[in-house]
Amino acid sequence: MSPWKYFVILAVTFTGAAEVSINSSFGEEKDAGSAYLADAVRLFQVKIPSLEQTQLSHQELGSLVHACLEKGDYDGLKEIELKVGAARFVAEPVISWALSSDWMVPTRGQGDREVWTELAFEIPIAGQILVGAMDRIVADSQKNIFSIIDFKITEKPKSVSALTEAYQAQIELYGFALTVLEPGLTLQNIQALLVNISRGHIQTVPIGLGKLNLLQLAELSSEIVNGKNGVPRPGALCRMCEFRMSCKEGSDSLSFLSKD
Ligand code: SF4
Repeated sequence: MSPWKYFVILAVTFTGAAEVSINSSFGEEKDAGSAYLADAVRLFQVKIPSLEQTQLSHQELGSLVHACLEKGDYDGLKEIELKVGAARFVAEPVISWALSSDWMVPTRGQGDREVWTELAFEIPIAGQILVGAMDRIVADSQKNIFSIIDFKITEKPKSVSALTEAYQAQIELYGFALTVLEPGLTLQNIQALLVNISRGHIQTVPIGLGKLNLLQLAELSSEIVNGKNGVPRPGALCRMCEFRMSCKEGSDSLSFLSKD
């Protein structure tokens, strides 16, 4: 995977919208609702396909699994397995993990623990607006730890190195966004976790924060939006890159690999 992919993703992610000043506390952000929720719906609404569709794309299947995890709808996960078949999705390991994971415990009204799902944000960075939505945030105010949980649904299990390489920048941006949303929060108080779900398999991968220069990344994204060419860096992750159809270098590297 090349950083170029990230630059393009960021180029798409950073919008030219008017700068938004975000200085509310995390709680206020959650309650303020209207503006952010409207934006969240507008920007991130996922069109959930009907389960009656016989051939769900992998992306659609991923959206369904995502939606069930966000709602804690474990019967929904079983229903997905019934509909698409165990050859594509097995609910049991996902349910077992979710039921045994501290990160998936819902908020029960205790004051020291809060959970947000699909937390949308718009954060100013390097003169641009970073727009995104985090799958799940768990805040433990007793330990002063915020956890970012991000679900990745893939057809086959991915190696830890492939997942880290592919998603380090995304998770780092989430970490940065959290420090802006919650004044006083630092990266040292944030832990991040990828949850990779594939057929019959689930693995969790901690992602360390503070390893990338996000300002530099944002500036480069801005330059690409304004017309500068990115630099393709073909590698193993070209296989899962959504830009490969328009990336000659990536396509060439894949055809070269398939001849081996
Ligand atoms: S297909 Fe192109 S853009 Fe995508 S990872 Fe490969 S080199 Fe980068």
